[in-house]
Amino acid sequence: MSPTPESASAPLLRTTGLRKSFGSLEVLKGIDLAVPRGRVLVLIGPSGSGKTTVLRSLNALEVPDAGVIELEGEALDFAAPASKKERQRQRETLRDASGMVFQHYNLFPHRTVLQNVTEGPIVVQGRPRAEAEAEATSLLERVGLGDKRDVYPFQLSGGQQQRVGIVRALALKPKLLLFDEPTSALDPEIVGDVLTIMKQLAEEGWTMVVVTHELGFAREVADEVLFLDGGVIVERGAPQQLLRDPRQPRTRAFLDRLL
Ligand code: ADP
Repeated sequence: MSPTPESASAPLLRTTGLRKSFGSLEVLKGIDLAVPRGRVLVLIGPSGSGKTTVLRSLNALEVPDAGVIELEGEALDFAAPASKKERQRQRETLRDASGMVFQHYNLFPHRTVLQNVTEGPIVVQGRPRAEAEAEATSLLERVGLGDKRDVYPFQLSGGQQQRVGIVRALALKPKLLLFDEPTSALDPEIVGDVLTIMKQLAEEGWTMVVVTHELGFAREVADEVLFLDGGVIVERGAPQQLLRDPRQPRTRAFLDRLL
């Protein structure tokens, strides 16, 4: 389950001047961030500030209008005109690099837990079925779902479905894990189980970008916290500094509302 060990120096991923509009609504107004290997970046900010759009851009679910995403030093330039084929290659490069965990799990309802987890490795990555199933089974056992391989998502609680969502991302053996408010849809008593798994993944050295309102998790696990508001990064810093003693009044006002 551990990520491939690599040199810790260069950032795995960096964005420069990332911009995105939906119609006349400018949602990202120049996002610069860097995710060093093995580190955890947490994005916080009010609803509508652009956090999900940042994550979806990193995973190529959205295509930025401008800016550069560098992945292991390879620059993918979204401002420069590009052929359809080149855009497709950029998107595939990003998509293959990361595994995404969604707020609402996004499991296929008519497929079993095992089928949900092995779909990507078998169909997209072309890995042998037996190998993909063996790995999926061991990952499911690891998150306490070894006995749920053959059930359907509707037979699981929200917390169990989200653990399947995490296993599905891990099964792709991505370089980077992206979490979009992974506990927001869960009953409060289950939130801790999912955060514990995420904390274990961070301790194992996974590189993670996490959108969350769980400030306790951010304080404990994040290497860097970014506060987004209105499509810009208003403030960034170590969790101890940013969460306890923010420099910007907008950050303080946001944190005060959450407490
Ligand atoms: P956050 O994750 O911080 O809540 P989002 O990135 O989801 O913010 O959304 C930022 C803004 O972009 C919101 O105003 C949202 O309504 C808008 N938005 C997001 N996705 C789309 C889309 N596909 N089409 C139109 N507007 C969108």
